[in-house]
Amino acid sequence: PLAIDAAAYRQDFPILSRQLREGVPLVYLDNAASTQRPQAVIDAMDACYEGYYANVHRGIHTLSEESTQKYEDARLRVAQFLSVANECELIFTAGTTAAINLVARSWGDANIKSGDVILTTMMEHHANIVPWQQLAQRTGCRVEFAPLTEDGRLCIESFDKRLSDLQPKLVALTAASNVLGTINPVAELVAKARDAGAVTLVDAAQAVPHAQVDVNQWDADFVTFSGHKVCGPTGIGVLHGKQQLLDAMPPFLGGGAMIHRVTTSGFEPAGLPEKFEAGTPAIAEAIGLAAAIDYVDSVGLDRIHAYELQLCTIAHEALQEIEGLHILGPDPKHKAGIVSFAIDGVHPHDISQWLDRRGIAVRAGHHCAMPLHELLQISASTRASFYFYNTPEEALQFAAAVRSARDKFNRPRKRT
Ligand code: PMP
Repeated sequence: PLAIDAAAYRQDFPILSRQLREGVPLVYLDNAASTQRPQAVIDAMDACYEGYYANVHRGIHTLSEESTQKYEDARLRVAQFLSVANECELIFTAGTTAAINLVARSWGDANIKSGDVILTTMMEHHANIVPWQQLAQRTGCRVEFAPLTEDGRLCIESFDKRLSDLQPKLVALTAASNVLGTINPVAELVAKARDAGAVTLVDAAQAVPHAQVDVNQWDADFVTFSGHKVCGPTGIGVLHGKQQLLDAMPPFLGGGAMIHRVTTSGFEPAGLPEKFEAGTPAIAEAIGLAAAIDYVDSVGLDRIHAYELQLCTIAHEALQEIEGLHILGPDPKHKAGIVSFAIDGVHPHDISQWLDRRGIAVRAGHHCAMPLHELLQISASTRASFYFYNTPEEALQFAAAVRSARDKFNRPRKRT
């Protein structure tokens, strides 16, 4: 039996009933790039703008107090969702990218010096590579990459060896790859990194939406995710940091709200979390994120995880029948709901366009993971990524369309 009855949830998502063109219903399989929003999230944001919106924290008037209350309630909701006991450890950011850049600028500039090593992996999104490369440009540190196994999992032996050989100051790794789908054993890797003396950062952009995350179980120093990948709005994300580290870090952006006091000769920063939330925050977006968390929690993260495995398995089995098609990454049981592949002699852009004409939205390209694609010796791949509102029929429709794309575009090469 299926872990989820998707039909029951699909009606909550207005966009999922869209016809792309006459008689061509939308099959949305681009959830790793961004998910869709249920009516409850749209309503929560509308209610904010229509009923009580004002700037937070500053005003002593009713609307400002109401907005502040809802904004801080949203932080509490995130805290409960991730099992964070102390909500001042949660910083609202614009997303995962902004959160990692915050850590690189604030913690990185204060703690990293020439010759230090930052260890990341070969399966990272550019958001967990480029900020460290920029830190390397500023400080002279080195960014090293832990290698993968043949089937696209992190090679634990090599990771261990890199930890002991390189003695990294920071280990920054993804909880789940946005291309391979690989789920990493985060708690185990973080424990090893900490034992080797490193600070740890987990990019949970592809994990938080797809399985129950308890930050205590991971025990990383920093964890980040984005709202828009978990049915929430764009422009909002979360950085969780351990208080001791956050307290010791200098503020990144300066301006309003992040200060305790300013004089002509200097400033005193505010406490957590305001120290890292300079300027007017994304108020309605934070409130929308809390509504999104309520929604996915009501679906159940354990069920979502089990259901994505079922969809992924259906897609894998159907795709495996297609000659010349190579699925990237491991067996579905080691994956989040992501199936990327390459077909000999067929360009991913052609596949993606062919699928789009049949209403199926997938992504083609390097998916912001160019080093990984270079390792795989392909310039691009096609990615289908599922969420709990997708159906087995959609997975099969997708695989059938891929097969027809292959038949259309993969003409045998002429003999010379
Ligand atoms: N890390 C991973 C693993 C991702 O999949 C993404 C989004 N594709 C990001 C980071 C960046 O997230 P955002 O664009 O929301 O900042």
